[in-house]
Amino acid sequence: MRFFKLIVLSAFLIGIAVGGGAYYMAGKEAGPTITIHSPEKYVGRSTPLAVSIASETELAGTIINVEQNGKAVDLQNMKMDRPGPGQINASATIGRDGLVNGPATLVVDAGRKTFFGLRTVYSHERRELTVRLDPPRVSVVSIHHFINLGGAEFVVLRATPEDVDAGVQVGDARYRFYPGSAVGITDPAMRVGFFALRHDQNVSERISAYARDAAGNEALVPLEHQPFVKKFVQSKIPIDQRFLDRVVPAIASNTPDLKIDTGSPEGLLKGFLKINGNLRKKNGDFIASLAEKSEPRMLWTEAFAQMMNSQVESRFADRRTYYFDDKEIDRQVHLGFDLATVQQAPVRASNAGKIVFADFLGIYGNCVIIDHGLGVQSLYAHLSQIGVKVGDAVTKGQEIGRTGSTGLAGGDHLHFTMLLQGTPVNPVEWWDQHWLQDRVLRKITEAGGSPPGGQSR
Ligand SMILES: [Zn+2]
Repeated sequence: MRFFKLIVLSAFLIGIAVGGGAYYMAGKEAGPTITIHSPEKYVGRSTPLAVSIASETELAGTIINVEQNGKAVDLQNMKMDRPGPGQINASATIGRDGLVNGPATLVVDAGRKTFFGLRTVYSHERRELTVRLDPPRVSVVSIHHFINLGGAEFVVLRATPEDVDAGVQVGDARYRFYPGSAVGITDPAMRVGFFALRHDQNVSERISAYARDAAGNEALVPLEHQPFVKKFVQSKIPIDQRFLDRVVPAIASNTPDLKIDTGSPEGLLKGFLKINGNLRKKNGDFIASLAEKSEPRMLWTEAFAQMMNSQVESRFADRRTYYFDDKEIDRQVHLGFDLATVQQAPVRASNAGKIVFADFLGIYGNCVIIDHGLGVQSLYAHLSQIGVKVGDAVTKGQEIGRTGSTGLAGGDHLHFTMLLQGTPVNPVEWWDQHWLQDRVLRKITEAGGSPPGGQSR
């Protein structure tokens, strides 16, 4: 009997020990997963706060606070969504109401139930924040802004504080500006740059100077300007079987992911439409991505040079309708100039700069792109030969290749375009020394700068 009691007692004690051990161990388990989605670092006048807390068991004791100067700020608009017992999505807008400029800390404490709901285990997260409630300031310094549809214009801005992004916004597009030091302006508040009015935008598009700081505070002022409508040419492009036979297989073999069937006339026509549509778009996106490689200084001072003795076969933003067997098959906009002289004529750099692309590029065939700094680039397409490589510095007039008919080209010619932060713009302005003098260099000089001279890097 005593022996039996001893067993019961032992079992009881083991039970306590095991249970206690389990209870103790449960306390060592990980707390819920806390994820702070925003803010990243800066809090502006109105900044979203988003925190999610997740656990496989029921959550308990959640506290989300923004602390500043030793006190928790009242987050009145905090919303706590609970899609399940183990999930909380918290959101609020923080900033002007309750916070002041300076450091702050986001503190998140969250617990979850464990050991049959008898214990709670916690997680803690903190994030150091910087509160910036003063909006940046921006004003337009340069005067006389004229903008052609499809063209570009230069502007000098003043933006403070010094670390804000500033530039010009044209409808849905933003053109980020460069420090004035890029053109010899010593005042650190000055910014310079070009903006474009795209050929497919409205001539009455709203154009503003903007400044935006790291906390998302923004200032916007209208840019006084005079826009000019530009009529673009409508043209008909007849496509025949001979053209498809020559052009489509060459591009198809260089672009296997288009999966073009080159074995039949129907396949070639379908392939042409893929090339003229999808590939044109893809190539355009790639070209736009090269804008970020632009140097933050002006690498040129003279007007750009049009190819010597060339005949203009097609202009910027021609609206092209394509026909096959007298039936309309496609429409595209031609975003450059087609210039023809003789076969395999030398192609020269239109201005000083640095090669950022020199390779085969879909519809453009063998293609060279030169960066001239300040977001300005020039493109040369359909070359038979490329004579430069990425990274080469070129001078104005230096030979960079030979004309040809590679890519989507009907015959030997140079397709030339100017790009502004990746947006094709009308080269005519850039070829005009008077335009450069009056619209760009004048504004730099008036702002106390001096465009760099004699580039031969
Ligand atoms: Zn062209």
